[in-house]
Amino acid sequence: MAKRVAILGSTGSIGKSTLDVVRALSPELQVAGLAAGRRWRELAEQCQEFRPAAVTIANESFSEDLRPFLQEGTELLVGPKGLVELAERDDNDFVVAAIVGAAGLESTIAAVAKGKTVGLANKEALVMAGSILMPLARRTGANLLPIDSEHSAVFQSMAAGRRSEVHKIYLTASGGPFRTWTAEQMAEATLEDALRHPTWKMGPKITIDSATMMNKALEIVEAAWLFDLKPESIEVVIHPESIIHSMVEFCDGSVLAQLGSPDMRTPIQYALTWPERRVGCARRLDFGTIRRLNFEPPDFDRFPALAMGFEVARAGGTAGAVFNAANEAAVEAFQQRRITFGKIVELTRRVLDRHTVASNPDLGTLLEADQWARREVAECLRR
Ligand code: NAD
Ligand code: MG
Repeated sequence: MAKRVAILGSTGSIGKSTLDVVRALSPELQVAGLAAGRRWRELAEQCQEFRPAAVTIANESFSEDLRPFLQEGTELLVGPKGLVELAERDDNDFVVAAIVGAAGLESTIAAVAKGKTVGLANKEALVMAGSILMPLARRTGANLLPIDSEHSAVFQSMAAGRRSEVHKIYLTASGGPFRTWTAEQMAEATLEDALRHPTWKMGPKITIDSATMMNKALEIVEAAWLFDLKPESIEVVIHPESIIHSMVEFCDGSVLAQLGSPDMRTPIQYALTWPERRVGCARRLDFGTIRRLNFEPPDFDRFPALAMGFEVARAGGTAGAVFNAANEAAVEAFQQRRITFGKIVELTRRVLDRHTVASNPDLGTLLEADQWARREVAECLRR
């Protein structure tokens, strides 16, 4: 039977790779719904090709632009409410959460609340609200499958043993564009420098997060939630080639790794076809051209974001929401060239230090913590 997929964030880097996988695996995979923010022309083209039952666009003005291009039978939904509605619809059974940032939280919660299988790319949702999403998934029976390449690798490697036999995991990191830069050089890095990722082609926010290594910090928190791991059981290892996507060490000392070319279509497809595998469209590894695989310990001095990841995973409560929101706001300011590169982590650190963590927060409390952190960043920018 066909899997009917709703893709939230279909015009983004993950969204487009997901559509590649759907194209390759059609008719087994079908597009039931598409959602995007601003790029309505691209969304219109996707609708022409995939004829979804429903489509969501972020606001009224874009919805008027999009409307004339939709085929009969495609329902048009609008805004954050429309996003939740799309995630909840009965005509899809698999939701790909590929919106960037906190904007993806509500729809991810909605899909999990409905007991759907969710392919999770939107790590920010889990960093903010893992304390809500994980218990909710257990209650509704929703499968939360990782799309993030490291977490997909851990998930795949964990299948080689029992959960109780897992000793620790290694999250690999390319090290980003500034792996070999000094702290002084990095402090003044430009937006263009930060957007030049050595191994992965991704959306701008995660590319900047990779340059600060905030991305790895977010992934530490993501892994802690997804696999119910203590921060002590998570280690980061720099692996510049991005061939080994992460590893699991079992109690007997055996280490299982998942390898592949740096192509997000592999982890996306694994989530979409899980628990099975299919011949797909992702690039394959060629060991004839790989000369060596390198490893380095991470540099916590040059990349202070990393320590924050462990700290936030340990603190729990509202720490994840504050950490994520402060970083999102700082990255936005950097993209607008209002702050230097070095200030992204500095601002996030400052806001996190000012926050008193509340434990067992409900969703309202988490959203308030998110808003508070954004106001704090704005306040720092004004001064
Ligand atoms: P992107 O910027 O390329 O795409 C983001 C998508 O979200 C776009 O379709 C955009 O229209 C949509 N969007 C943004 N705000 C929205 C809103 N308010 N309402 C509706 N739609 C909205 O980002 P990306 O690189 O594809 O990343 C998406 C998510 O996947 C992020 O959480 C990122 O951390 C994660 N991720 C990405 C990669 C990658 O290779 N790109 C790898 C691992 C994880
Ligand atoms: Mg990743």
